[in-house]
Order: sequence, then C-alpha cells, then structure tokens
Amino acid sequence: MRKIANNDIGCNRDLRRNAVVGTPFAVSTKPACHVNSENGERQSSDLSVMFLTTVQLRSITWRPARSYIAMPDTQNPPRKMMFQLNLRRRGISDQAVLRAMEEVPREMFVDPTDRADAYLDTALGISCGQTISQPFVVAYMTEQLDLQKQHRVLEIGTGSGYQAAILSRLCNRVVSLERYRTLAEQARERLAKLGYENVDVIVGDGFNVPRELGNFDRIIVTAAMEEIPDGLADRLDPEGVLIAPVGPHHGTQTLVRLARRSNGLERKELVDVRFVPALPGIAREL
Ligand code: SAH
Repeated sequence: MRKIANNDIGCNRDLRRNAVVGTPFAVSTKPACHVNSENGERQSSDLSVMFLTTVQLRSITWRPARSYIAMPDTQNPPRKMMFQLNLRRRGISDQAVLRAMEEVPREMFVDPTDRADAYLDTALGISCGQTISQPFVVAYMTEQLDLQKQHRVLEIGTGSGYQAAILSRLCNRVVSLERYRTLAEQARERLAKLGYENVDVIVGDGFNVPRELGNFDRIIVTAAMEEIPDGLADRLDPEGVLIAPVGPHHGTQTLVRLARRSNGLERKELVDVRFVPALPGIAREL
C-alpha cells in the first residue's frame, strides 16, 4: 500500500512513516465545547506531522510573479499560492479538484482565531471537539471519488462544511449528515451565506442513513469507522463509489475505496490516515 505522508517536502525518514493527518483527534485550545458524551475521553494528536508541515511551509521564501500581484484575492497571496503548490507537489492533478480547492475560502470554515493558519496544510480544531480536515486529505479524497457533474453525493461528517463546499463545486447535489446539531446548524448557515446552494446539511447518524434520502452515486465518510457497515455500502447506486477511513478509532486508519460493480463490491486500500472517530447516534448534548 502506498504511504504518502509528507515525503514530498523532504521530511526525515521517521516522519515519513507517519500517517497523513485527515482530521487528527482534536486537542482543542478552543473554549471547550461539550466533550462527546459517548466516549468522554480526551483525545490526542499527531502533532509532529502538523508541526513539521507548518515549519517547512513557513521557511520557504516565495517571490510572487507579476501576474499574481494583480490577483483579486490579496488576503495573503503567497500563502494561497503555497497551498496550491503543495497540493500539486503531493500528487493532486485533477484540474477541477484543484480549482475547487482554490475557489473555496477555507478561512471562512475555520475558527476565527485560526484564520491566519487557514492555508497551512494542517487540520484545525472546530467546535464540539471536532476538526476541519487537512486540505491535502480533502483534495485526495475528493479526487478519489471521481465526481461527475450529475452526481448526488452523501457526506457523513459535515463538521465545518468545508469538504461539503468542495464537493458541491464538482457535482449536482451534496447531502451531508452531522451528529452534532450545533455543527450542522453552523455549517448550514455558513454554506448558505457563501452561496453553496446545492448542499443539504442534515442532523443525522451516518450509521443509520434515513431511508427517505435514497441511494447515492458517491459516499464519502470523513470520520473513522472500525468497519464499513453493509447498510452503508448498500446505499451506493450501480457503479457508485464509497470512500472511508477504516480502522481503530485511536490509531491509524486506512482510506478504503469501494466501487459497486455488476459482480459485487470492489475494494481498494489507498493510504494511511488519521481521523476523529465516527460514533453512532445523534450527539445527546449540543
Ligand atoms: N468533513 C468535515 C470534517 C469532519 S470531522 C469538514 O470538512 O470540516 C468528522 C465529523 O464527523 C465530526 O463533525 C463528527 O461530529 C462527525 N460524525 C462522527 N460520527 C458521525 C455519525 N455517525 N454521523 C454523522 N456525523 C458523524
């Protein structure tokens, strides 16, 4: 299996063995939102990967070309350029995915105190002890979904709404389920304000997707599942694709891609990642 942790930006060998950080367990410096009532545990983080990425990005001097100076987005051109460059360097090549990553303003999805870090390739803490995923992982999962304009996509784990916004640029409709009411409401409001009209955010449990939502062309799970429930794979249309981080909650997971073929499900293991856990049921608090 291919591992793609940071090796493109020249990190040392030990760090190369680390998993890509999708949504690392949130060690929040944020005002404590309610700790998850089900697991109630404090979560740890793979900070070495994030720290290294941050330091290396900051250590590169960037001289913008003339054409970039005139770009309308002057919020922080060098950082945004580094953001795109990093995605390309790490192997993202689908032009539509790169365009979506460029167009969606990540600074509007992170906590206001983290805006300066919005274009670093790291996951960041959001409300309710959850995280917005690392941009590279968002781009990678999106690319692996092989989206088409007419597709209807189910996301499990709305979080900030960032992944849903990226998907919405590349398909017809996104239905996103979130077990925290607070996160769902915030994401719904944010997406509406930013004009992402083809996203429906629903408070719900990804282990029990409401029947009335029907089946989907694509399913993306953005929280770690110990295994993919049969009931979820059953919601894929013919030729449908599902991608999910599969593995132990407090360890490294593997991104798994399932494709529905005429003779059954084709399974492929992609890369190692770390995501916050997928937990059953609607959160009791918040
Ligand atoms: N995609 C998000 C990040 C996801 S973090 C973004 O772009 O910001 C994982 C999210 O999955 C968390 O918000 C968590 O509350 C949610 N989650 C965990 N288990 C779930 C379940 N069973 N159903 C729906 N959402 C779930």
